[in-house]
Amino acid sequence: MSSGEGSLPLTLRVTGRKVVVVGGGHVATRRTLSLLDAGAQVVVISPSISDSLASSIGRGDVAWIQRTYESGDLDGAWLVQTATADPEVDGRVADDAEAHQIWCLKGGAHDHATAWSPAVARVADVTVAVSGGGDAGRAAALRDGVAAALQSGDLPLRHRTHHPDGFVALVGGGPGDPGLLTTRGRRLLAEADVVVIDRLAPHSVLAELPPDVEVIDVGKMPDHHPIPQDEINAILIDRAKQGKIVVRLKGGDPYVFGRGGEELIACREAGIPVEVVPGVTSAIAVAAAAGIPVTHRGVSRGFSVVTGHESLADVPHNRAHTLVMLMGVKRLAETAAELIAAGHDPETPSALIESGCTEDQRVTVGTLATIADRAEAVGARPPAITVIGDVVALSPGWPPA
Ligand code: SAH
Repeated sequence: MSSGEGSLPLTLRVTGRKVVVVGGGHVATRRTLSLLDAGAQVVVISPSISDSLASSIGRGDVAWIQRTYESGDLDGAWLVQTATADPEVDGRVADDAEAHQIWCLKGGAHDHATAWSPAVARVADVTVAVSGGGDAGRAAALRDGVAAALQSGDLPLRHRTHHPDGFVALVGGGPGDPGLLTTRGRRLLAEADVVVIDRLAPHSVLAELPPDVEVIDVGKMPDHHPIPQDEINAILIDRAKQGKIVVRLKGGDPYVFGRGGEELIACREAGIPVEVVPGVTSAIAVAAAAGIPVTHRGVSRGFSVVTGHESLADVPHNRAHTLVMLMGVKRLAETAAELIAAGHDPETPSALIESGCTEDQRVTVGTLATIADRAEAVGARPPAITVIGDVVALSPGWPPA
């Protein structure tokens, strides 16, 4: 018989309980390590053992009786695993276990086994256990498939009953393409009770959420003013205090001009557990989407990410140091003039990339002296980044028409 009909799936609490492992080969080793992970008191009975068992024994985690199995070895055990590769010994262990009403896991032929180990994976607070069909390889493949789907957020991980502790995840949503959201971000979205989303975060992922997930769009207000930061902080804290899992879905990376640091501090001060999931920042990804590497051997050895709203007198003024400017499309002419006045070469290749990594992406190239006029000529609009430096000449859009 194999696990299936006439079997009852169970999870055992083995912590501190004696479990006997008969055998010292690789099956016995794997089982011993899993049992140790689960906190069992393991006694290995075998004339010889594998190297990794030997090191567990060396550390004092496992007791080793160095001989073949004898009746009486199961005294006081709650569970026995036999995997000696000798059917006669395994059979004797199983018979003794049966006589003493001890559950018996068996390597090799499963006849006389009274227990089976499923293929196991743990994702978040979920244990995936797959058994059946007597095909361990298939069970392991299925386990991996379910685990991967859980990791990626493709399966509904949301709690259906009350979960006691709310928390906030500050998730970087990437520059707009949902494919650039991390697997961890997706999984947290699949768990979320509340999603607080920015204007530039990937809104298309909202369509995948169950209808009862509360979505708060803090980038969109009737009067076009975004919700003030302290109000956003208050929303995050309020929902988490209600015991909800809150995903704060932000554009790009939470910490790159994203005010993620302020949200983190606010949550911490309120005693709310908070996790930060990095995101793909537009500063690098949008440049890449236009064919511009922010550094390139022999062309650029570094880059600065700045906003178009700050004074740019202090950034390095050489064409081999890439400047990536976020925001500030409207001020582009002033910014370019400031850079030139501060010593930047007016001939430095420059690109403005609007709505990068989306279907609407548009790239406009020019020099530092001409980029603002060119941007105005095409009616450039935010969101956009400006890249200034010799690396821009690597873009397929270079040279300017
Ligand atoms: N935390 C974000 C940046 C927030 S500031 C990140 O790491 O990407 C907002 C600015 O980011 C926009 O004004 C624009 O300059 C830039 N930006 C974000 N998404 C963009 C996109 N898809 N295309 C071009 N620029 C983008």
